[in-house]
Parts: sequence; C-alpha cells; structure tokens
Amino acid sequence: MKRFLYIIIMCALLCQLAGCATQSRQTVFAMDTVMDLQVWGADAETAVAQITELLHTNEDLWSATDPDSLLNTTDKTEALMLRALEMSERTGGAFDPQLGAVMECWGFYSKEYRVPTESELADALARKKWDLGAVVKGNTGTLCADSLELLRVDRAILNLGGNIQTYGEKPGAEPWSIGIQNPDGGDYVGVVSVTGTASVVTSGDYQRYFEKDGVRYHHIIDPKTGMPARSGLRSVTVISRDGFTADALSTALFVMGLEDAAAFWQNSNDFEAVFITEDGKVYATEGANLSGCEFEVIRREN
Ligand code: AMP
Ligand code: MG
Repeated sequence: MKRFLYIIIMCALLCQLAGCATQSRQTVFAMDTVMDLQVWGADAETAVAQITELLHTNEDLWSATDPDSLLNTTDKTEALMLRALEMSERTGGAFDPQLGAVMECWGFYSKEYRVPTESELADALARKKWDLGAVVKGNTGTLCADSLELLRVDRAILNLGGNIQTYGEKPGAEPWSIGIQNPDGGDYVGVVSVTGTASVVTSGDYQRYFEKDGVRYHHIIDPKTGMPARSGLRSVTVISRDGFTADALSTALFVMGLEDAAAFWQNSNDFEAVFITEDGKVYATEGANLSGCEFEVIRREN
C-alpha cells in the first residue's frame, strides 16, 4: 500500500516538473472583438470559463449601444465612470468618456460610416453621451487578473482584442514578450517585455477606421473638434500594472501627440509607453523594455 502511495506521489511530482499542469485556451467574441485566452494551472479550464463570463458581464454593463446597459441607465455614480472623469481631468481633456454621440454620428456604432458636418459634430460634442470604449477592455483585463489570483492559476496571457493582460510569472521568471503591431500590417515592429502581471495596451489609427475620398477616418477622436485625432502618431502602446490606466492613456496620449505625451510621461510614474509616428519612427520611454527595433529613448531628464 505504501509503495502504491509512493508511486502516485512520484507521478504527481514528475507531472508538475514536466509542466503537466493543464493549459486551457479559448477564443471568445466579446466587446465587438476577438479575444484569445490562455491559462496555465491545475484548474485552467474552470478559470477560462469564469474569465469568459466576466468578459461578457462587463460587455453588458458598459455597452454604449445597449440602451439598458448600466452605463446608459445610471447617473455617473458608478466607480468606473467617476474614475473616467478623473482621468479626463488628469489628461487635460484628451481622454473624454462622453464622446458617444460623436462616435454615433461618424457611424462607428452602426458601421454605416459617414463624414458628419461641423454643426453635427458641435451638437454631438455638446450632448456628452457616455462611451467607455477606451477603457472597458483594459479595466476588465485587471478584473480578470484579480479573478485569476483568486482562482490560484499559475499564469495566463489574455489578448483582449489587442489589449494584452498578463498574469503571473512564466517558468524561470522569463518575461512575457508582447509584439507591437506594425500600423501598416505585416511583421511586428518590436517586442515589449514585461514580468508578472501587467497590461500592455495599444491604440492605433489602423484598428478601427473607414476611408472616404482617400482620407482615413479612425476611431480615436480629438475631443476639441470631434474629428479623428491627427497628432502625427500612428500608434501608442502603454504598459502599466493597471489595465484602466494603460487603456485610458493609450487613447489619451494618441490624442496629445508625441511631444505632449512625452511631457505627460515625465510627470507621471504609473506607466511606460512606445510611440510610432506617421513617418515610421519609434520612440520609447526609458522603462518600456522595448527590443527588436531601432528607437529613440525618451528620458526623464534631457
Ligand atoms: P482605444 O481603442 O482604447 O484607443 O479607444 C477608442 C475608443 O474609445 C473609441 O472607439 C471610442 O469608443 C472611444 N474614444 C474615442 N476617442 C476617445 C477619447 N479621446 N477619449 C476617450 N474615449 C475615446
Ligand atoms: Mg484605450
């Protein structure tokens, strides 16, 4: 009997050493995008199921288009909405959680795209309709990481439609490597390395857009004009321990443009960033851990 028990324990140990802790992977469509969930741990399957549920719950709560969502039926008393208003203030209005009517009049909700008139845009800006599309995925990424902690999984990487959420350490404390997309498609421009739990979020003019008369109209809006932001940037990637921060700032820094965004980073301590400009140059803040490409480093003090 003892020998039998000994064999079982040895098998379990060997299994652990050989990395037999199960891995579960699933593709989910939520928040209008394709998501890829990969979890490692003894009960990875349960974790993936719970994460999937969490994604759908948050999609329903914060939908800008569902008239019955919490976002559309509450009066900015929810913590996420208050946090969004604070972020608007912190970014000098570059992040604006009330651009819903503007998104609507460009056709981004119905996918029947059109170029609105100036007076339509002025009217839409004044309506201040809630839209948390710039933060819900990132915020949900951190909620997922909190759940994974409770579920005691070993590690996970969640691709929430371009928002990457890592959880836990890889074996041998290897960093997670996250490719930064080339705005023109094709290979990755470079790779960002993060250790442990982090959010890596990219906002880019190639993610959601339509073209009319040779002009590209994308989904990141300059709140001053209601027009797609033309700041000289093609994409901004933000790395933070917090998903809400990473997501909100990727959008806001895109609107600010490189110079203002660099100054904003110099006065902050809760994120790092990588910028790709319209002329194809790459800039990275000094803690961004970027590799695999040539880039200029943005430092704290010049
Ligand atoms: P992201 O892809 O995270 O940069 O977020 C873009 C989404 O956030 C858009 O699809 C809109 O729903 C919303 N949005 C657009 N412009 C802004 C802005 N300046 N501030 C906050 N949210 C915005
Ligand atoms: Mg964002």
